Amino acid sequence: MRYRGGRKSTNVENRTGTSRGGLAVGGGIGGIIIVLLVLFLGGGDVTDILNSSGGNSVYQQEAVNTAGREDQQEYSEVVFGYLEDYWNQEFQAQGMDYQEPTMVFYTDYVETACGSASSAVGPFYCPGDQRVYLDLSFADELANQYGAGGDFAWAYVIAHEVGHHVQQELGVTDEMAQRRQSLSEAEYNQYQVRLELQADYYAGSWAKYMEGETINGQPVLEIGDIDEALNAANSIGDDTLQQQAQGYVVPDSFTHGTSAQRKAWFERGYRYGDFEHGDTFNAEDLSLGT
Ligand SMILES: [Zn+2]
Repeated sequence: MRYRGGRKSTNVENRTGTSRGGLAVGGGIGGIIIVLLVLFLGGGDVTDILNSSGGNSVYQQEAVNTAGREDQQEYSEVVFGYLEDYWNQEFQAQGMDYQEPTMVFYTDYVETACGSASSAVGPFYCPGDQRVYLDLSFADELANQYGAGGDFAWAYVIAHEVGHHVQQELGVTDEMAQRRQSLSEAEYNQYQVRLELQADYYAGSWAKYMEGETINGQPVLEIGDIDEALNAANSIGDDTLQQQAQGYVVPDSFTHGTSAQRKAWFERGYRYGDFEHGDTFNAEDLSLGT
């Protein structure tokens, strides 16, 4: 994706380089973990499984940083800017206001309204403070560990997290929190899968919008970008991650959908690019026949 010269979002907080000690928050927040729905890119528990079964080796792997961290940040800010443009437009078309989210860059460890988190959980969105949390080293991990290379794979990740913000704005997140109180874990997981697939759908609809965008007269999207996003969606399906981590899959524990489903919903978003076709909650066949 072309990004040099693109508008960078200003809804950005840079908390990289702050040590754990430096993050101490004054007042009564310390020690209290507020448990809220936190929305990850892939299953948080799966990340833990990867960590325990694979030993430390996966995280000790030498990172190949193709773009350089500063570029990675600038790239992310431009992507975030385009996501603002797109969602403002979509909400306005429906006569609704859109509150833009904030993107937080951090390293290793971060305090959020949803509790504290280490970068091992991967990128996530916290509805409690309407922030997308990114440790940029995950971009390398995505390429090296999950086999999802290419710059637009990272754009898909950001777009997926912003998709969760859109769900927060639309009230979908609150409905999920209600459901959590009355359902068994396996039942709730099925809704969680639908929530995640909808975030993939929204990422796809944004990608479609990007096709019409230009910087200095040049198309922003480059050949291969959409394939990079599709490959990323495919690489982080629950079945694929579980198979890699433990050699078998447990469908009841799926929280994000299979690789085929994630790919299918991104593709569907890319095809239709509207709210209407993104109703994963009422879809009969989550694989969309693929
Ligand atoms: Zn997610």
